[in-house]
Amino acid sequence: MASIDVVKVLQLENYERALTARGIQTSMHELEKGIPTVCKAHGIKPEDLQVKGCLLIYRRREQDMPLAQPPDNASPEQIVKTEGVRQKMLRLACAKYLFRVQDRRLATGLIVEDGRLVGLQVAETKIEGRKAEPIPGTEHEIRAPLVVSSIGSVPEKLSGIDMKGEYYTFSGEDLPRYTGTDHVFGVGNVVTGQGNIRVSLVHSQKVTTHLVSNYMGIGDGSGDISGIYSAAEERVAAQAELIEKKIEATPPLSDEQVAGVEQHIRALQERAGYSSDYDSWIAKVTPPDLE
Ligand SMILES: Cc1cc2nc3c(=O)[nH]c(=O)nc-3n(C[C@H](O)[C@H](O)[C@H](O)COP(=O)(O)OP(=O)(O)OC[C@H]3O[C@@H](n4cnc5c(N)ncnc54)[C@H](O)[C@@H]3O)c2cc1C
Repeated sequence: MASIDVVKVLQLENYERALTARGIQTSMHELEKGIPTVCKAHGIKPEDLQVKGCLLIYRRREQDMPLAQPPDNASPEQIVKTEGVRQKMLRLACAKYLFRVQDRRLATGLIVEDGRLVGLQVAETKIEGRKAEPIPGTEHEIRAPLVVSSIGSVPEKLSGIDMKGEYYTFSGEDLPRYTGTDHVFGVGNVVTGQGNIRVSLVHSQKVTTHLVSNYMGIGDGSGDISGIYSAAEERVAAQAELIEKKIEATPPLSDEQVAGVEQHIRALQERAGYSSDYDSWIAKVTPPDLE
């Protein structure tokens, strides 16, 4: 999904520039409806604009691209159907944004000239299940003025945080707990490694439901974490009681003091350009191109 977004945006930029150079004014929003459609509306053939455009390379097969996911415990027919959906989505995106795709290609090295990246060394791949291995003897060069890598998201290296390869060290699948401490849990991509909103959402709901139900004492008893928070709860309850007593004993502000606070707030708001109400302020500061 990220790679399609990237090639799409670059293609919109490329074609907008090529059209502008021909004196045709268009916009990214118009082109997003489909580059061939816009070209046709202006009586021009996309190929006449001589845009070489982007090439998207992918190490597995087109039908393996995670553009759609099969349901849990999918049957072989459902998997075949999902593969068909993926190919169709890719075909539609190519037709609309005119980028090229080469599947089963793996970047094996960089081509650097005069200290600048000028392309990639690439090999064809052999696919077995999820494995994509380079095929010896198929190495070749792809030269390009711009290379964008879109290989999933990996956690940032933070000093003091243990890592195994590119990942933080979490243990346990249902309740992924960072191994360096007993009260830090992970949700989403950082644990599943799957770059997909739905997978992250489902995973985070599962983990947080587990934590909350355990806290409320309505869990199934697995992964008990009460030891982590019981001491903190007692400490916080004692602090809250102290705060409550202090507030009860504190005399309320006088009318003049309240008026002084309100005046101070108004002065700060005016300094930030907030002079009447929220609706008119947000209308004033909303960027014109916000969708
Ligand atoms: C361009 C692009 C297009 C995509 N398109 C799609 C799509 O169409 N459909 C789809 O399903 N998926 C898409 N994805 C993938 C999807 O965005 C991710 O899989 C999903 O957002 C992961 O959710 P998450 O909550 O696990 O992590 P994230 O959304 O990455 O959230 C992690 C959060 O942690 C914060 N964070 C990181 N480090 C720290 C730190 N040290 N301290 C405090 N905060 C920190 C980050 O700022 C971020 O807010 C796309 C991704 C990209 C980049």
